[in-house]
Amino acid sequence: MAEEVTGRNAMPVQDPKARVKNFHEVALGYTKEQALLEGARCRQCKKKPCSNGCPVGVDIPAFIALVKEGDFLGAAQKIKESNNLPAICGRVCPQEEQCEKHCILGKKHEPVAIGRLERFVADYERTAGPAAGSSGAVPTGKKVAVVGSGPSGLTVAADLTKLGYQVTVFEALHDPGGVLVYGIPEFRLPKEIVRAEIANVSKLGAEVLVDSVIGKIQSVDELLADGFEAVYVGTGAGLPNFMNIPGESLSGVYSANEFLTRTNLMKAYLFPDYDTPIKVGKRVAVIGGGNVAMDSARCALRLGAAEVCIVYRRSGQEMPARREEAEHAIEEGVHLNLLTSPVRIIGNSDGWVEALECIRFELGEPDESGRRRPVKIAGSEFTIPMDTVIMAIGNSPNPLISKTTPDLQTGRHGVLVADPATGATTKQGVYAGGDIVTGAATVISAMGAGKRAAAAIDRYLMRERSALISSTKPS
Ligand SMILES: Cc1cc2nc3c(=O)[nH]c(=O)nc-3n(C[C@H](O)[C@H](O)[C@H](O)COP(=O)(O)OP(=O)(O)OC[C@H]3O[C@@H](n4cnc5c(N)ncnc54)[C@H](O)[C@@H]3O)c2cc1C
Repeated sequence: MAEEVTGRNAMPVQDPKARVKNFHEVALGYTKEQALLEGARCRQCKKKPCSNGCPVGVDIPAFIALVKEGDFLGAAQKIKESNNLPAICGRVCPQEEQCEKHCILGKKHEPVAIGRLERFVADYERTAGPAAGSSGAVPTGKKVAVVGSGPSGLTVAADLTKLGYQVTVFEALHDPGGVLVYGIPEFRLPKEIVRAEIANVSKLGAEVLVDSVIGKIQSVDELLADGFEAVYVGTGAGLPNFMNIPGESLSGVYSANEFLTRTNLMKAYLFPDYDTPIKVGKRVAVIGGGNVAMDSARCALRLGAAEVCIVYRRSGQEMPARREEAEHAIEEGVHLNLLTSPVRIIGNSDGWVEALECIRFELGEPDESGRRRPVKIAGSEFTIPMDTVIMAIGNSPNPLISKTTPDLQTGRHGVLVADPATGATTKQGVYAGGDIVTGAATVISAMGAGKRAAAAIDRYLMRERSALISSTKPS
C-alpha cells in the first residue's frame, strides 16, 4: 500500500501497480486515529472562511470540533444539516477549489483535509450509525415532481421531503444517481456508497421512479396538470460533444459518455457476468483534459489497454481535471500528449480505427477564459497508430425537456434559463438547476442549486398556501 505524498495527514491509497488491475476504490479513507490527528489541525476560526467556500454551506468548524471530541456520529449529523450526500462529496468534491482553498492554514501550510474528514465521518455513520429514518415532517399535502436523480434532483427531493412535501423523482435510466452512477467510475466512487446515500433520501420519504423519461411518458405540463404543484428540472448535461473531424463515426470511436456508461452503469468490466461488453484495443487515445478524460483513460487501462494517452490541446497547467485525479492517472501509467489536438481519425478497410493524426500547438495570448490560447504550429502534423479513440471534450444539455415544454426559455448551448438565486425558470411553478442550467460543472454546485431551488419552491408553495388560507377566512 502506497502513501499519498502531501503535507497533511496522508490518505492511504492502493498501490498504482495493483490498482490498475482492479476497479476497487483507489483512496482508502482515514482511520479513526488519522481523522483525530487531522481534525486537531483545525483552528476553529470564528469567521468560518471554509464554510463560506462551500456551495451548500456546511458548518465545517462545527463538524470538525465534533471530530476532535471523537463524536463522529454527531459530526455526520452536523454535516447532514446542510448536505444529504456527504460520503459522495467527501470523495469527489474539488475541495481544493472550495472549502480548503479558504482554510487559513493554507496560507502558510497545507489546509485542513476537510474532504477526507467529511468522507471519514460519513463512512463511519454508514457502518456504525443508526439506520436513517423518515423525516417526520408534518405533511403539507402538496406534491412536487423532480425530473432527474443526479445530485441536484436528489438534493431538492431530500430538502423538500424534510419540509413535508410529497416528492416524486422521475429518472430516465434504470438506476438513480445521474453521473454519480453512470459517469464517475467505481474506483473513485463505489456505487454501494451512492446507493446507500440515495436510500437515505428515499427513507426520508421521497419516491424515486426509474425508467421514467419525462418528455416521453409525460410532459412537464402534464405533470403540472396531474397534481404536482411545482416541478424541478435537474436533467444534467448528458449529450456528448464531438469535434466534427473526419473519422469520428469509425468503429472504435466512443464518446466518453458511452464508454463510461458501458463501463460503470452497465458494468462492462465484469463482462460476461454482466451482459454489456466493451472493446478496448491495445492503444487508446482520450481527447480532452478534464475529469471525464481522466476517468476514461483510467478505465481504459483497467480494461486491459497497453498504452493510454490523453491528447489535450493546452498545457498541463490549463488542464481542468482535479490535480489529484491527473496525478493518480499519471501514477497509473497514463501518458499526457499535451499541446496536441487530433485533426482526423484514420480507419482501416473494415471501418475500424487504426491511427490518429494530430497537430501540435503552442500557447499564445490569454483568451476570454484567462487561459493562454492554444495556437496551431503549421506543418507539425504527425500520425500515431491507435485502436480506440474516446472523445471527452464536454457535454451539452439533453434537449428533450426544453423541446417538449415550449414556454421554457433556453440559452447558449441549450441550457435552461433559470434565476441563479432561486432556480425559477421562465415558466411559473417550474424550477431548474445543476448542469442543465450551468452546463457541465460539479456535484456540489448542482447540489447548491438544488438547495436554493428547494427553498424557493417552499416559499412559492407556502405563499400559495397562505393566500388560500386568507381567501377562505370568513371576513
Ligand atoms: C465522468 C465524469 C466525472 C466527473 N467527475 C466529477 C468530480 O470528480 N467532481 C465533481 O464535483 N464533479 C464531477 N463531474 C461533474 C458532476 O458529476 C456533474 O456536474 C453533476 O453530476 C451534475 O448533477 P446534475 O444533478 O445536474 O445532473 P446529472 O448528474 O447529470 O443527473 C441528471 C439525471 O437526469 C436524468 N435525466 C435526463 N433527462 C431526463 C428526463 N427527460 N427524464 C427523466 N430523467 C432525466 C439523467 O438520466 C440523470 O440521471 C463529473 C462528470 C462526469 C461526466
